[in-house]
Amino acid sequence: MGDLKDPLLRIHDLGQFAYCPRSAWYHFLDPEQVGRHDENVQEARARHATVDTVSERRRPEGREWTCVPIFHRELGIRGVADRVLWREGAAVPVEHKPGRSAVIQEKHRLQLVLQGMCLEKMYSVRVDEGMVWFYDIARRASVPLDAPLRAWACALVATIREGLRTFDLTVFPRVEDARCRGCSHAENCLPRNLYGGA
Ligand code: SF4
Repeated sequence: MGDLKDPLLRIHDLGQFAYCPRSAWYHFLDPEQVGRHDENVQEARARHATVDTVSERRRPEGREWTCVPIFHRELGIRGVADRVLWREGAAVPVEHKPGRSAVIQEKHRLQLVLQGMCLEKMYSVRVDEGMVWFYDIARRASVPLDAPLRAWACALVATIREGLRTFDLTVFPRVEDARCRGCSHAENCLPRNLYGGA
């Protein structure tokens, strides 16, 4: 079981909340177990490997770091940014994601804005924008990290933290829709009639 009293929540698990709150609950509870036996997750991890090693290189548009550890003590979050581009006093976090179309999802916005706030705090830089790099189709999409997005993300982190502190499962409802298809938690998560049991 994960340490639910850990004051620093993982940004990846918070992003999962935007996809399915109950799935995030499983991530918080047992981060090591998630995806261990799921071939889709294993395959995605293999394709993500290009940014799973710490590196620094120069590119025409500026410096680039990969696999960057980040945290924000006041917000109580920590994580690893896939890639960070440094451009004239500003930083741009870049998330590497699978996908057949360059469609930005809520979980992408959440992860990027939290990463941006970490980078601002740690390096005293401006972070106005984040990006998603869809490596299956080699396309990128930009996400403005504006004030409404920041306010929403901070409120969500506070709600999740309170839900974990009080062990309140109502904060982590199931989605019970198409997202459950292929979910590695489905067998344990869904009622038998929804999962296909007798
Ligand atoms: S089975 Fe459905 S409700 Fe349960 S964690 Fe997966 S996506 Fe969420």
